[in-house]
Amino acid sequence: MLSYWSEQAAALWGQAPRLEPLYGEYDLNFLAIDPDGAGSILKVMRKDCAPEEIEVQIAMIDHLAAQSQVPVPGVLPTLDGGRFGKAVDPEGDQRLLWRVKRLPGQTFDKHLLTPSLLRQTGEMTARLHLGLADFQHTSLDRSFKWDLSAADWTVQHLALFDADPALKRQLDGLLQWYRETGQPFLKSLPQQAIHNDLNQQNLLAKAALGTGPSLSGVIDFGDALYNPRLADLAIAGAYMAMDQERPIEALAALVAGYSSVAPLSVAEIEALWPLVQMRLAVSVTNSGLRKQEFPDDPYVVISEKPALALLDFARNLEPRFATDRLMQAAGYAPKTEQTFAPVTPLVPMFEADLSQAAVLDLTPDNIKLSANRTHPDETELDAFIKEANAAHGLTLGRYGEARLIYGGTAFGATDHAARRRRTIHIAVDVFLPAGTEVRAILPGTVVFAEYRPVRHDYGGTLILEHHRGDGTSFRALYGHLSKASAENLQPGQTFEAGDVIAHLGAEAENGDWPPHLHLQVGSADASADPDQWPGVVDADDWDLWTHIFPNPASLLSLPDALVDARPEAVSTLRQRRSAMTAANLKLSYSDPIHAVRGQGSFLIDAEGRRFLDAYNNVPHVGHTHPHVAQRVAEQVQRLSTNTRYLSELHLDYIEHLLSYFPDEFDTCFLVNSGSEANEVAMRLATVFTGATDIAVSEASYHGITQKALDISHYKFAGPGGQGQAEWVHTLPIPNTFSGPYQGETALADMTAEAVGLINQIGNSDRRLAACLLEVFPSVGGQIVPPAGYLPALVEAVRAQGALFIADEVQTGLGRLGSPFWAFEQQQATPDIVVLGKPIGNGHPMGAVITRREIAEAFSNGMEFFSTFGGSTVSSVAGKAVLEVMEAEKLDQQAARSGAALLKGLTALFATCPLRSDVRGLGLFLGVELLLDDGGPATELVGQIVNGMRQRRILMGSDGPLDNVLKIRPPLSFTEADATFFLEQLDSTLRELGLR
Ligand code: PMP
Repeated sequence: MLSYWSEQAAALWGQAPRLEPLYGEYDLNFLAIDPDGAGSILKVMRKDCAPEEIEVQIAMIDHLAAQSQVPVPGVLPTLDGGRFGKAVDPEGDQRLLWRVKRLPGQTFDKHLLTPSLLRQTGEMTARLHLGLADFQHTSLDRSFKWDLSAADWTVQHLALFDADPALKRQLDGLLQWYRETGQPFLKSLPQQAIHNDLNQQNLLAKAALGTGPSLSGVIDFGDALYNPRLADLAIAGAYMAMDQERPIEALAALVAGYSSVAPLSVAEIEALWPLVQMRLAVSVTNSGLRKQEFPDDPYVVISEKPALALLDFARNLEPRFATDRLMQAAGYAPKTEQTFAPVTPLVPMFEADLSQAAVLDLTPDNIKLSANRTHPDETELDAFIKEANAAHGLTLGRYGEARLIYGGTAFGATDHAARRRRTIHIAVDVFLPAGTEVRAILPGTVVFAEYRPVRHDYGGTLILEHHRGDGTSFRALYGHLSKASAENLQPGQTFEAGDVIAHLGAEAENGDWPPHLHLQVGSADASADPDQWPGVVDADDWDLWTHIFPNPASLLSLPDALVDARPEAVSTLRQRRSAMTAANLKLSYSDPIHAVRGQGSFLIDAEGRRFLDAYNNVPHVGHTHPHVAQRVAEQVQRLSTNTRYLSELHLDYIEHLLSYFPDEFDTCFLVNSGSEANEVAMRLATVFTGATDIAVSEASYHGITQKALDISHYKFAGPGGQGQAEWVHTLPIPNTFSGPYQGETALADMTAEAVGLINQIGNSDRRLAACLLEVFPSVGGQIVPPAGYLPALVEAVRAQGALFIADEVQTGLGRLGSPFWAFEQQQATPDIVVLGKPIGNGHPMGAVITRREIAEAFSNGMEFFSTFGGSTVSSVAGKAVLEVMEAEKLDQQAARSGAALLKGLTALFATCPLRSDVRGLGLFLGVELLLDDGGPATELVGQIVNGMRQRRILMGSDGPLDNVLKIRPPLSFTEADATFFLEQLDSTLRELGLR
């Protein structure tokens, strides 16, 4: 078959191409590669294809190509100069053949659909419309099943959906809108030539480093016809929104792009979302019919799935949200904020005086509610609320409040806790006993009344339309009522102000909640379907939702502020911060995080978003570990004092900590930070050796104090640094990827150089007190030196009578999995070990571990005392960390999760167009990235880190050129966390054109 068509192509175009079949619904399409490697697309039209059908497509392509505003594939002329040719197929039927050039790029797939590509698609669609505005061809004056201006044919096939009544109702409603509003509107718009099938298969994108995929082609004009341009946009929108986590955001990007080139009217924008759904309706109807015709074709079922999923999403979305978002994208203000202040005085909804109510705090700030991955569960929440009610009699739940409960199991937790969830409550709760009367505040009409018995639903539910005195009205949703409240009312029924309209439901009939009213308010055109009144919304969309469902406090005659739980805006916090602190106090990420809570491997922000923490090594056994928190809290209440008094807490901790070291390490000094620990270590070395000089590594960092800064090459040689002091000597970093030492002789070369430098000091008139190194340089770029490097270096240091100090602030205490310390991995034993950050799990601690003879030399008459170092509270914190390490075998977990990350990272970067080095051990990992020319991929690394932050994963960057991705999570990081991390990194890399 392939060779047959290749021969036919040779007859028409001169050369026999190699053919690979491509998808085509009716026609045969092939990728044709000529002997010289040139690629094109060969189209063999279906049997009954009329020549005009090809002519019109070619004319459109030529028309657009002449304007060069839209990347279309040029048509290859046949040997005799024609635009298409004829051949007979193996069955003896005549076929029309034509060929177009192959454009660069690949067809869109889910991973390519970045906001930027969607925007470009919108821009291109607008340019296509401008380009085709004056294009005329008689064969475009046609209609067929994909004509969105004539989509009402689907009405005859509604019975296809009998098995899914909700879908059928939805399609029925859509069709009603279409016939009354949508279709007449489309008919009223100017018609022109449109593409009519801008789907993923007909659009091409090519990846560009750092900017991600860019649009590189539009193909297949076979469905073109005269229609309003809005129809084209709706069709593109339907496809671009499918399979998206946030379909409306995808549509918004498309609209933003389109309207930046060709403005859309408000009426067009208002019709867009329903027209997108109408196209989906056409699609699923078509699939339904094909299923009847070809019941065994699995492709039909597969292809209808995303359309059905998007319709399902649409069913539960308040349509004004979509419209408002699209209006915003097109540069129009979303509908202005409604005021719900009643015109006539209200009858109080409840007898009780709500102004006396206590206001609940259900935010992540409330530590009475746990923040575990699956918590708080509803029992914990219920207990908290019941206790508050018992104490205060009457309580209110707030509007705009971030609540972790909505990420918990009770609300169908996602497979990973950091995945996007709705977290912000958009109503007010009034907690009063079951049976409490609810009175109508204003006269009105019942819009919806139903008992919804499902657990965690609203139980008895009403939507009421309330009439203000001035002829205007608004709607309000009343949830968690009694069963009878809903069943006694009918839509359309009217009521007077003051009528007892409902009673609060008991737990058994209110969806299983402590008795309360959920009160939410919307405008007069708010939906009559409670499924379109989300009680909880995505924090990222709050600004739009708050227009649609504003604060309902006025309905309860309460001031808005009383029940408003919005956190302080990030912009305000930034202003306050910059007003009071210096500019070199840096924030992470271009979009900084307002963290209010931590738990295990998660940071939680003030909006209840969970971030998977793959960056912070201080919460070594997990943020806010309950064992550590409890022991510290208890000790703070018992006694907080210093080492001038005897305490077994101090001794037990040191004993425990020393048990992790080889026997010769028998003495410990406790301080408050890594910087202090390095200071003390240097003092020990100076006193012990009588020398002053210190050798350090390039790109080293050892702390914030003056002497620690003096030995931190990263600081003294960096911006604002004071340069290298005469007593400081720098050794090269053992980086075998981008450093000067590469290939087989790397180890020998780097050792020779480092040892040579040490020896040089010995041969000068300076004397070395110590070589102070991070065994695995972290700021230097998460480096694991080759085996054999450190022992040779230590030997050279000792040969001069100097000491070797290992700064294990970053690597220590089980982070590497196995071994427990980095110096063990290098088979080198230091004289002094410095610990910091992780040993207190956030409690400020540092430790210096050494041999007795060194400590004894240090005891030269001068007292050693640190006010806080080794305090009873610090000792308890440190010991609790060790207890958790052991109880939860966290070093083993670090080994497992680290191995999973290392394996996944290696696979991800294997196909990255950058040069990469994936390295590390346990949960001390790095990925160094270099550009083609060998330069550092610093900017891309920053983009990856910020891209991951947008996907709610925290990681960092490091290295002297800041081109190393840094991954060093709390050891509570599980293998499931690793899987999620890798999935998100994959998407981030694709988004940036790095995969
Ligand atoms: N040494 C190393 C290797 C470090 O990474 C750090 C902190 N980043 C320090 C010392 C200083 O510790 P601290 O900030 O607790 O003073």
